[in-house]
Amino acid sequence: MASSEKVCIVGAGSSGLTAGQVLGARGIAYDCFEKGSRIGGNWRYENDNGLSSAYRSLHINSSRELMSFRAHPMPDDYPDYPSHEHIARYFDAYAERFGLLERIRFNTEVVEAAPVGDGWEVTVQGADGERETHGYRAVLAGGPPERPDYPTFADGHDEAVIAEAIQASAREGRWVTVDRTSSLQEATE
Ligand SMILES: Cc1cc2nc3c(=O)[nH]c(=O)nc-3n(C[C@H](O)[C@H](O)[C@H](O)COP(=O)(O)OP(=O)(O)OC[C@H]3O[C@@H](n4cnc5c(N)ncnc54)[C@H](O)[C@@H]3O)c2cc1C
Repeated sequence: MASSEKVCIVGAGSSGLTAGQVLGARGIAYDCFEKGSRIGGNWRYENDNGLSSAYRSLHINSSRELMSFRAHPMPDDYPDYPSHEHIARYFDAYAERFGLLERIRFNTEVVEAAPVGDGWEVTVQGADGERETHGYRAVLAGGPPERPDYPTFADGHDEAVIAEAIQASAREGRWVTVDRTSSLQEATE
């Protein structure tokens, strides 16, 4: 199959969204395929793509200013270290503002990308199991390669219990340490 002038974007997390915004602004045609039913990737808690590592109490550890897109800063009323809900809402607003949603094919997984001639052949599979192959001049893919890996704690505490204990301790001016094997302990200093 001859390669087309289009670019293929794999995934509609922050990498795919920004790639789409920049390509769109430069008039470069592209298709974006997203395995899940919504944008946001890692920052969509309980994402039905099965790939998000977000946990209930997740906040960013880079600051709001550092993580903001230049073309669309985070709202001024956001905290310095927003939660995953803030970040997902922020991505929703970004996608809305730049008309990105209509360019994304949701529930469609890229299952193969092979270099052919001066381009790429990309095979995608929809939720119905049907496969299609298209030619592209380039393929852009971001995303961490790992599957989610949530720790389990020896005495059965789950993440929500631990997050609650950490927050309560911080309010009371105490510190706790958490380790994977012996779970929650109050620090001595
Ligand atoms: C727990 C945790 C905390 C983090 N904290 C921060 C932070 O504070 N600040 C920071 O800047 N970064 C942080 N990161 C890094 C994080 O990876 C980035 O913020 C961001 O999510 C990367 O965006 P991405 O689009 O590259 O990947 P993702 O957000 O993972 O999005 C990838 C998208 O591609 C889709 N996809 C994957 N494979 C396919 C396929 N074959 N076909 C179709 N679609 C596919 C997925 O469904 C997903 O929507 C953190 C990561 C983790 C795991």
